[in-house]
This record gives sequence, C-alpha cells and structure tokens, in this order.
Amino acid sequence: MKSIKKITIGAVVGAALSVISLTSPLTQAANTFISIGTGGPTGVYFVVGNSICRMVHKEAAEGRKSGRKHGIRCAAPSTGGSNYNIGQIGEGELDFGVAQSDWQYHASNGSSKWEGKKQSDLRAVFSVHPEPFHIIVGKDSGINSWGDLAGKRVNIGNPGSGQRGTMEVLMTAHGISSSDFKIATELTSSEQSKALCDGKIDAYGYTVGVPNAGVSIATDGCDARIINLNSDVEKGLVNSNPFYAFATIPAGTYKTSSQDVTTFGVKATFVSSAKVSADVVYELVRAVFENIEDFRKLHPAFANLTHDQMISDGLSAPLHEGAVRYYKEQGWM
Ligand code: GLU
Repeated sequence: MKSIKKITIGAVVGAALSVISLTSPLTQAANTFISIGTGGPTGVYFVVGNSICRMVHKEAAEGRKSGRKHGIRCAAPSTGGSNYNIGQIGEGELDFGVAQSDWQYHASNGSSKWEGKKQSDLRAVFSVHPEPFHIIVGKDSGINSWGDLAGKRVNIGNPGSGQRGTMEVLMTAHGISSSDFKIATELTSSEQSKALCDGKIDAYGYTVGVPNAGVSIATDGCDARIINLNSDVEKGLVNSNPFYAFATIPAGTYKTSSQDVTTFGVKATFVSSAKVSADVVYELVRAVFENIEDFRKLHPAFANLTHDQMISDGLSAPLHEGAVRYYKEQGWM
C-alpha cells in the first residue's frame, strides 16, 4: 500500500514538473545558481566575474518585466586565480572561471603544469582583456632587468595563480630556479604590493590587465617601477607559443610609467565545463553580449573589447556548445 502511494505522489510531482517545463521556455537554466572563479580581490578577474554576474542579473530583472525569465543567480567570489579555477571547474566545484590563455591551452592539451591531468571537459566561452606579464620592482631595489633579480627577495605568487605558473615558465626559460633568489615568497596578488612598499620584498611577478588598482598601490604608492621583458628569452617564448604575444604597458599608465614598458603577455579568458548545461552558458553569453556597451564601461581594460576578438583570441579549448549557439544566432560564426 505504502509503495503504491509513493509511486502516485511521484507521478503527480512528475506531471507538475512537466507542466512547469511547458510554460517556461528556459527550463534548463531556471532557478540555477552559478559560481564564477576569479582571482584576488584587487585584480581585474574579480571585476570580470562580478561584471558578468551584473549583466546576468540585469537580464534577469528585464526578463521578469518582459516575460523572458532565465532564473539564473550568479556569484563571483575571489579565488587563487587561473589554475585554481580550471581545477575547480574540473571538479564541478565552480561552473565558470577566468583563466589566462596559456593555462587554458595547457589544461586543455595536458601540457606543462597539466601534464598527465588533461582537462578534456574544459570549454572556452570567450576571451576578455589582454594581460601583460609584469615584473614590478621596488624604488631602491637596484633592479633594472631580469638578470638583476638574482639574489633578491622575489614574490613568485601563490600556487594556483596564473602568474605563479607563468613566472615558473619564465624562470625555466632563463635557466634559473627559485633558489637563485635570496627568498622566493608565495604571497597572493592582494598582499604583494603592500609587501613591496613595506620593504619585505624587492620585486614581484604579476600577470594582470592594465590599469590595475593592485599594481598602482606599489607604483603610485611607493614609486615602484615595471621593467622591460624583451630579451631573446622572451622573444623565444613568444615565437614558440601561440598563446604569448608582446605587449606594451603605455607611458603614463601609472605614476612611475615615464616610458612605454615592453613585455610579453596573454589574454584573460572565460572558461567552463562541457558538464555545465548549454542553456545556462547560452543565457550567460547572451547577457554579456546583449549588454556589451555597459560591460565595456565597467573597467578601463574592457573599453576596447569587440565580439570578433572575444570569440576567437586566446581560445584553445573547444568552444562550449551553449556559446556556439548564441554566436551562430548572431551570425558571428
Ligand atoms: N592572471 C592572474 C591569474 O590568473 C589574475 C589576474 C587578476 O586577478 O586580474 O592568476
């Protein structure tokens, strides 16, 4: 008797659900909570994630008025950065994340740090702003080029951050290891500028969009400088890897930017998993591109974003099918 009653209730609930799905055009996305992994709270990734959530919630509010409801709620907490985000997306702990194009490439191909841990479900959604790799040095550190870092106290970044990975690649390319520094610290991006200004470190490496509030704490706050990285070593890295390009940090960006700085860099990209529903990805992508004018105003690093660059530059993992659906609808693919 009891089991028959259960079955009956199940059937009633099932019927109710199918009624809901008939009346709601966006069933997969309805009442879904999504999480976006970013970076440190003073970085640009944090602005990327929270700007995307803002567009998603804007579309939700407009949809409530017009009857086009997507029901997605979004949060973009601070995290350890690129490789942390990719790993957590793989574990299903995050739905989306921001990641450097070099680490998207390596995770998707099972190379470098991701050797033996290929992320086959990693999906590209779009790319965002360029991220030059910065070496930022203290005013009186006596450091003017990469070679001067030997014997100094250098922050190589927290494990899981994109800059930590890229710093290690650069150190290997220059034929040095962290034991060549007096001390190699593992401070996060939100700790490093204060440590530099307090005289606790002499330099730090950081891959970040321009301008960045965290960097300005050091440049504008205690006259730190950004050095050029344009030797044959960086030329070799750029020539042999599709995800690196030379980049300029223009004169005038920060208080101590008296001249252009030439360095190499990557793109910030937005990634997800094949396991995240296509309807959810479609709604997120739609929210961003329907509001791209507003999005561009949310950070100076976003000012020049265009859809044709965003759907191709720096993307090496397969595009998520939900993103492809929107790009095809727009005639962009
Ligand atoms: N590129 C850095 C990383 O992947 C983060 C930069 C930022 O937070 O804007 O860890």
